[in-house]
Amino acid sequence: MSAPHREVPIARRSDDPTTGAIRRVLLVCLAVGLVSVLVVAVLRWSDLMVRWTSPVLVAVITVFAWLVLRRPWAVLPVSRLVLTGLDLVWLAMLAARLSTPPDQGGGWDSLFPTVFMGLALFTVIGYLVFSTRQAGAHAATVALAVLAVGTIGLTNAPRDTGHVLDLVRYGIYLGVLAAMLHVLSRSKEQAARAFQAARTANAEAASMREMAYRDPLTGAANRRRLEDELVFQSRLVDAGMPVALVYLDLDRFKEVNDDHGHDTGDRVLAAVAAVLERGLRSGDLVARLGGEEFVAVAPGLDGAAAGAIADRLRRALPEAVDAQVGVPVTASIGVTMLRPGEGPQEVMARADALMYQAKRAGRNRVVADIGVGDH
Ligand code: GH3
Ligand code: MG
Ligand code: MG
Repeated sequence: MSAPHREVPIARRSDDPTTGAIRRVLLVCLAVGLVSVLVVAVLRWSDLMVRWTSPVLVAVITVFAWLVLRRPWAVLPVSRLVLTGLDLVWLAMLAARLSTPPDQGGGWDSLFPTVFMGLALFTVIGYLVFSTRQAGAHAATVALAVLAVGTIGLTNAPRDTGHVLDLVRYGIYLGVLAAMLHVLSRSKEQAARAFQAARTANAEAASMREMAYRDPLTGAANRRRLEDELVFQSRLVDAGMPVALVYLDLDRFKEVNDDHGHDTGDRVLAAVAAVLERGLRSGDLVARLGGEEFVAVAPGLDGAAAGAIADRLRRALPEAVDAQVGVPVTASIGVTMLRPGEGPQEVMARADALMYQAKRAGRNRVVADIGVGDH
């Protein structure tokens, strides 16, 4: 199953662990940029271009820093807009310089390094703020525009093969750089998609596991989950780590269905599961075997404690279920201890037999084979 292609904005995914890091990197870049602009402004204030662009750059950097700090979701759209604007300003500057005579600060030589380096830098930044495909188109557009403006400038200027070579060399540098960035950016997007797909698959697997292990009527664990738990616990159990098993069957439940209807019977079952969950610890497992039979597995409980808890549950049950559903059901309960290495069937058969003893003895009672006697 392939996840649909989705661009992952750097600043909108609040659960993305890299968001904070990216914001810090952006802020450091902006601070470095601000210092550079100020240094250039101080050193080259006589240059008309510096005098024009410095205040704009300072304003842009300030607004950006504010966005990164206060409106992170707007960073990407604004970055795209600003980058496109900078592209246009720089291309206009390229054209203006080429049409200005060298003795007035123009000409081919005045394009290096600021103008060309600026455009190369914008190509790199394009890969940070656009999707790979958009950034590729951005890089190609910038390169073509440079080529067009440069070619027109060269045809107007006196022929100089050195300048043509410069343009070709510059184009090759930019092309190699863009190709590398393209590959890196594609890998990053593929990794992000794979990460997203893995997350979806994980969530689906977890929900399927949940469905496979849960009884839908009562929300308790089901028989499969119970058996897995017993297999697991029988490997750990020993004298220092006892594991108790409480086997519970409702008394004359058929009559509840007959007298109050099957729906009420269902609600009784859910209420019984809730009473068991409440009466046991969070590490204990409450499972519905099917019908009106429940089993609780309680690691760490010794025989005496398990018998006492089972009896407390037995006494609490009628009132709690009556309060919730209006039917005061009782239960017969068998209590036994899991033995090291024994299988789920063995321990359940033993607990089931104890529960039947409780039925035969008159119902609404606990029978344990662990030396605590009948309650
Ligand atoms: P005993 O005291 O001997 O256990 O009597 P009992 O009526 O509880 O025992 P029996 O096994 O004869 O009846 C169990 C009843 O549980 C039969 C069936 O109608 C009911 N039952 C089983 N599954 C469900 C269920 O999912 N919902 C409801 N409402 N009733 C169920
Ligand atoms: Mg029953
Ligand atoms: Mg039964």
